[in-house]
Amino acid sequence: MATKEKVVIIGSGPAGYTAAIYAARAGLRPMLYAGGQPGGQLTTTNDVENFPGYPEGINGPQMMMDLQKQAERFGTRIHYGLVTSVDFSVYPLKLIIDEKDEVLAEAVIIATGASAKYLGIPSEEKFANKGVSACAICDGYFYRGKEVAVVGAGDSAAEEATYLSKLCTKVHLIVRRNEMRASKIMQARVKNTPNIEIHWNTETDEILGDDSGVTGVRVVNNKTGEKKVIPIQGFFLAIGHKPNTEIFNGYLNMDETGYIKVLPGSTRTNVEGVFAVGDAADKVYRQAVTAAGTGCMGALDAEKFLAAKEMELAHS
Ligand code: NDP
Repeated sequence: MATKEKVVIIGSGPAGYTAAIYAARAGLRPMLYAGGQPGGQLTTTNDVENFPGYPEGINGPQMMMDLQKQAERFGTRIHYGLVTSVDFSVYPLKLIIDEKDEVLAEAVIIATGASAKYLGIPSEEKFANKGVSACAICDGYFYRGKEVAVVGAGDSAAEEATYLSKLCTKVHLIVRRNEMRASKIMQARVKNTPNIEIHWNTETDEILGDDSGVTGVRVVNNKTGEKKVIPIQGFFLAIGHKPNTEIFNGYLNMDETGYIKVLPGSTRTNVEGVFAVGDAADKVYRQAVTAAGTGCMGALDAEKFLAAKEMELAHS
C-alpha cells in the first residue's frame, strides 16, 4: 500500500532542511528523505566560515545536525532512506523509497544536491579534510600564506585558482592538456596572475603527506613521462560537479550536464508540483547559503501550489 504525503523533500543538505523548516512551519508536516549522504556536502567540510550568522564559523557536520533539529522541531519527519526512482507522469507524484516502498506526494521538493568529482586516487581520500578539498571558497582561507595546487582547467579551476592566488603565496594549476577549457576571460585572468603557475600536459600521480596533512603532490608530464614533486599544503579539485539528478531523467527538463531547469525567479520545474532547489538546479553559485535560500523558495512555491490546488478542488 502506498503512503500518502502532502510534501516530500528529497535531500538533507542546507537546501532540503531549509525547505523542511519553512514547509513544517507552514503546517505541511513534510516528509524528508535524507538520501545516501545525510547532511550532504557540508558533512565533508570541517569549518564553515561563510554562512552568515556564525561569527566564529561552524563545523560542517554540526551545522547540519542543527539544521536537522530545527526542521524536526517544527514537525518535519525524517526518513533515512533513498528515493530510488520516481514516476512524475502521474499525479499524485509517485516515489519509490529504497527500491520497495511507494509514496504518493502532492508536492515534491528536490534538494538532491551535486557531488564534486574526484580523481579517484587513494591519497585523495587519505587526505580528505587534511589538505584535500573540492571547494576553494569554503576552505581556501585555511591556506592563506601557503602554497597550494588546483587541478582542472575549466571555469571552476580558473575561478578557484584566481581566488586562491589572493590568499596563498603561490598556486600551481595542474592542467592535463596543453590548453584550458575555461572561458577566454577567465583564462586571461589566470595567465596574468603572477603567482599562478600553470603546469601543462600534467596529471596528478599522487598526493603526498604525513600526519600533519598534505606536504606535496607528485605530478607526471603526460608527454614526456617526467615526474616531479611540487611542495604544497593544499590540494584543490576543480574538475567539475555532477548533479544528483539521474532518477529524474525523462521527467524533468535539465541542461546537458544534468542540472534541473527551473522557471527563472522560481523553483518550479516543467512538472506541476515538482520544485527543484539547491545545487541540483544551480551550477553557478553552489554555496550553502544560496542553497538554503532556494530551499526556502521551494517551500513557499510548494505551499502556494498546494493552496491553489485546494482552491481548485473546493470549486470543482
Ligand atoms: P568543466 O566540466 O567545465 O571543466 C572540468 C575541467 O576539469 C576540464 O578542464 C577537464 O579537463 C578537467 N578534468 C576533468 N577530469 C579530469 C581529470 N580526471 N584530471 C584532470 N583534469 C580533469 O567543469 P567546471 O566545474 O569548471 O564548470 C562547470 C560549468 O559551470 C561550466 O559550464 C562552467 O562554464 C560553469 N562555471 C561558470 C563559472 C562562472 O561563470 N563564473 C564558474 C564556474 C563554473 P579537459 O578540459 O581536458 O576535459
